[in-house]
Amino acid sequence: MDHFTYRDGILHAEDVPLPAIAEAVGTPAYVYSTATLTRHFRVFEDALAGLDHLICYSVKANSNLAVLRLLGSLGAGMDVVSGGEYRRARAAGIPGERIVFSGVGKTRDEMALALRDGIRQFNVESEPELLALSETASALGLTAPIALRVNPDVDARTHVKIATGKSENKFGIPLARARAVYAEAAALPGIAVVGVDVHIGSQLTDLAPFEAAFTRVADLVRDLRADGHAIARVDLGGGLGIPYRRANEAPPLPFDYGEVIRRTVGPLGCEIEIEPGRLIAGNAGLLLTRVIWLKHGEGRDFLIVDAAMNDLVRPAMYDAWHDIVPVAEPAPGAEMPLVDVVGPVCETGDTFARGRPLPPLGEGDLVAFRSAGAYGAVMASEYNSRPLVPEVLVNGDHFDVVRARPSFDEMLKRDSIPSWIPEIP
Ligand code: PLP
Repeated sequence: MDHFTYRDGILHAEDVPLPAIAEAVGTPAYVYSTATLTRHFRVFEDALAGLDHLICYSVKANSNLAVLRLLGSLGAGMDVVSGGEYRRARAAGIPGERIVFSGVGKTRDEMALALRDGIRQFNVESEPELLALSETASALGLTAPIALRVNPDVDARTHVKIATGKSENKFGIPLARARAVYAEAAALPGIAVVGVDVHIGSQLTDLAPFEAAFTRVADLVRDLRADGHAIARVDLGGGLGIPYRRANEAPPLPFDYGEVIRRTVGPLGCEIEIEPGRLIAGNAGLLLTRVIWLKHGEGRDFLIVDAAMNDLVRPAMYDAWHDIVPVAEPAPGAEMPLVDVVGPVCETGDTFARGRPLPPLGEGDLVAFRSAGAYGAVMASEYNSRPLVPEVLVNGDHFDVVRARPSFDEMLKRDSIPSWIPEIP
């Protein structure tokens, strides 16, 4: 459930009509709902109620400081995958002891940053990383709490580009090597083994791969304890999918995901960490865009909107589907001609949807791409020299710009022309 609904024929974000945001901020713009973010976080809290747990929101899904502060204020920890995300989480006020650091290629500088400023745990993905972390922590006279991310060789049955739990993926340490690497970790200076970590992929629409992976993790924890390691935590990653096509998709509910956790790793008595991103932020945001015009092509019509693949890359990158809805509610039984919805970027890949039924729309009409709160703004670029898309957070009947649209001057000022290049005659 989210808080984007039609009221009196106009799509609202909570109590704010979307045309008011378009008027004040311009388009394209991302619009997030505080009530929806809050609700999605609490759904996970409820799913894990009674278990010792920490929900470490995956910053990569939506890293706006306001979103991080909001979730942090509700009690969230954070999962970061770069020094930049770590800085964001800290800048939002998240204490270091609530931040886990994931990622397959952490640099020594990133390790030192987190070690100095406070970290709950590093999720270590390889032996070279383990050695580098041991050296970095020892040089600083500090100890790095670690979990090893294991690769359980489970097929997440999701898009190939966001599956991470098969042995051919770059992530994690093969299960078969895990016990040996734990033994190595326990003997290293500057390292304290605290847990086991796994993350098998994103946008999973089936619980069976989670069950398989968590069962393997539970078996490993028993083996590691038998080997003498004090495993106090399991980090189960993120990955629970969301309905992008509201009409015909019903991915598993967080409650049922919680039941899988209880069944598999619950009996271990470990503190449980999860790292959801998409489920918290995805349906809490939409991308608001304005129609530039309708172009009649040879046998198809193109609805050209002012958002483009640089603002929302998921359709171009993953062939992803986003429900696209007009801000003015169509009358019941209204004519719904099929259109291709495209952006202005000079690539055929800048296509959001083909043959989508939409009411007749023309220049100036507002349209919303739903389910765009996760992996939307964070993946935006300035391709085609289009300024980064702004972000707006709605709370009840008011809204705040939580990232302003940069001016063209700001964009141009970041470049510089060396003096040896002559002036244009
Ligand atoms: N944790 C890690 C290590 C990830 O790589 C990801 C994303 O793939 C997540 C958590 C969040 O996944 P999702 O947004 O699908 O919940």
